Amino acid sequence: MSYPKIELHVHLEGAIRPATLFSLAEKNGAALPVATLEELERFYEFSDFNHFIDVWNVTTDVLYDADDFRRVVVDYAAEAASFGAVYLEAIVSPGQYYTRGIEGRELFEGFTDGIQQAREETGVEVRITPDLDRNRPIEVSRQIVLDAIPFRDRGIVGIGLGGRERANPTSMFTEVFALARDAGLAAVPHAGEDDGPRSVREAIDLLGASRIRHGFRAIEDSHLIAELIERRIVLDVCPTSNLRTKVVAHIDDHPLADLIASGVGITINTDDPAMFGTDLGTEHEVARAAGADAHALFQAGIDGQVAGDEIGAWLECIAADHWAVAPQAEVAR
Ligand SMILES: [Zn+2]
Repeated sequence: MSYPKIELHVHLEGAIRPATLFSLAEKNGAALPVATLEELERFYEFSDFNHFIDVWNVTTDVLYDADDFRRVVVDYAAEAASFGAVYLEAIVSPGQYYTRGIEGRELFEGFTDGIQQAREETGVEVRITPDLDRNRPIEVSRQIVLDAIPFRDRGIVGIGLGGRERANPTSMFTEVFALARDAGLAAVPHAGEDDGPRSVREAIDLLGASRIRHGFRAIEDSHLIAELIERRIVLDVCPTSNLRTKVVAHIDDHPLADLIASGVGITINTDDPAMFGTDLGTEHEVARAAGADAHALFQAGIDGQVAGDEIGAWLECIAADHWAVAPQAEVAR
């Protein structure tokens, strides 16, 4: 569909297509569990969550240096541009690279070089929000935040939180998110996916969340929805991801239409497009079928983005150009 799009919830590691991974593995001499690209494509096919984790680990083990991290930004920006994306807030997961001894500086230089190259080659503006992992030691999370802070002006704009919501309590991360926010990095955690409204509440109260990745289970609490609307806290909804991870059994059971009707701001996103077998165009088709309005999705993206006023004003101009009020309608008013 040829309207401008904003995507705020995409994991760059989960967006690496098999052909890219195959060539990165060749370049780095990294082992893959398969011998050919065709086999790798079959290996990528989603079967269940455990296999998804296997694919995730194989993928991230292939990434080594700044050039690899640069490439994954540029490749996804080009893919998203083909579906009309103009602005992306992408997630990266530094924890596993730190465990392998790759330094934060190598990571963030690669990712931010990718931002620059993506801008030059595709016109898409990318910003990056490293995810902290609930399952890793808090010292690792603190180090990731400290390493990310110097890259604030080069496009690292927020800090996320991922991993199973019931793994470690949100309260464990209060201090490290305060450190990030004090340095100008917004809090953009995952919540309200495999846990209910309580986790969304904690993300707001304990982490100072500016936006919620997923968050769709907020619909179970009308008071929470009212507060999200009042505070203009946007939910980054990923319909296909919710089916793949089985937090929603069938698309007819997805609360997308209820979220739209509630008036809460939602964006539509791919989460891990290569691994979930989807893309930004497909997710928008699902959302439109549930009654989403393209302009409203874009406006929620503007409300939800954490890059700042300059990006906000630029996106407002794009919206005004694309959804300009027709002259007749002006007269009629
Ligand atoms: Zn996610």
